[in-house]
Amino acid sequence: MKRRDFLKTSLAGVAGASLATLPAVVTGCGPAAPKKADVPLRLSFQEGIAPGANLGEKLDYMENLGIVGFEPGGRGLAGRVSEIENALRGRSIKVSAICAGFGGFILAEDPAVKNEFDTTMREIVEAAGRLGSVGVIMVPAFNNQKPCKPHTLETRDYLCEQLHALGEFALQCGTTVILEPLNRREAFYLRLVPDAAAICRDADSAGVKCMGDFWHMQEEASDYAAFMAAGPKYLQHVHIASRGRRVMPGEDGEVDNYVDGMRALKEMAYPGYVSFECGTKGERTETVPAAVALLRSQWDQA
Ligand code: MG
Repeated sequence: MKRRDFLKTSLAGVAGASLATLPAVVTGCGPAAPKKADVPLRLSFQEGIAPGANLGEKLDYMENLGIVGFEPGGRGLAGRVSEIENALRGRSIKVSAICAGFGGFILAEDPAVKNEFDTTMREIVEAAGRLGSVGVIMVPAFNNQKPCKPHTLETRDYLCEQLHALGEFALQCGTTVILEPLNRREAFYLRLVPDAAAICRDADSAGVKCMGDFWHMQEEASDYAAFMAAGPKYLQHVHIASRGRRVMPGEDGEVDNYVDGMRALKEMAYPGYVSFECGTKGERTETVPAAVALLRSQWDQA
C-alpha cells in the first residue's frame, strides 16, 4: 500500500471510530430531521392585509389563499378574545403572533411609564396565551420614546432581568414575548437579529424569544446568517414586506428577494410563521395574491 493510500485508510478509520462514540442525535440515528423540501412555508397576515369589510370576510379571503396564520394587534386584545376565537372556529387559520399594542416601554426612565408597560403588556400576554399565540412582539425602546435608560452595560443587564421576569410570566400563560429588532431610524437600541438572540440567551427564560423582519433586516449583512444566529432555539416569528418601500412583496421588483433568508429557515426546519406586515401601492385584490405566489416560488427555490 502506498503511503498516501495508507494515510487515507487510517484517517477514515479514525473518523469512523470518533463518530461511533458520539451521541445518536449527532450521528443522525435519532429522529430524522425533515428534508428541506418538506419544510412548509406557513404564511400569516396581519389584520390589515387581506381585503374584506370585516374580520370574517378577511379570514375567508385568507383561507382561500392558503394562509394559515392571523396576527392581530395587541391593543384591546383582552376584550377581543371571544370575537377572535369565534371568527377562527372551524377554520384552518390559527393566531400567529400578537403585534405589540401595549402602553409605555420597558426601558422607560419614568417609573409611571414603565409601570404602564408592565400592566398593559401582561394583560396582552395573558390574552395571547388564551388565544394560543406563539408570542407577543415587543421593541425595548423606539428612538422617539424618551426619557429612555441610556444605552449602557447596566441598561442591558436591567433589560435582561426585566425580560426574564416577563418571559417566565409569559410561559405561565402558555406563550412567549418576542423581541423585534428594527432599523436604526426607528430603534437604535436593537437593530440586529443576532443581538436580539444574545439578549434572549442572557435573559435566561424559555419565554423570551426574538424575530426577524425582512424589512428591518436591511441592517443585516446577511439574511441567512441573521436567522441562523438566532436558530430554532430563539427564532419565534418572521415579518415580511417588500424591501424598498415596505409594501407587498414583489411590488418593489427585483430587490424583493428573500431566498437567502428562506434558505436558513428551511435548513433549521423553522416551524413558525412568516407574517405580512406591509402596505400596498396597488389593488389589494391583485397585489396580495401576487405576493403570496412570489413567496411560494422563492421558498421552493431556497
Ligand atoms: Mg415588523
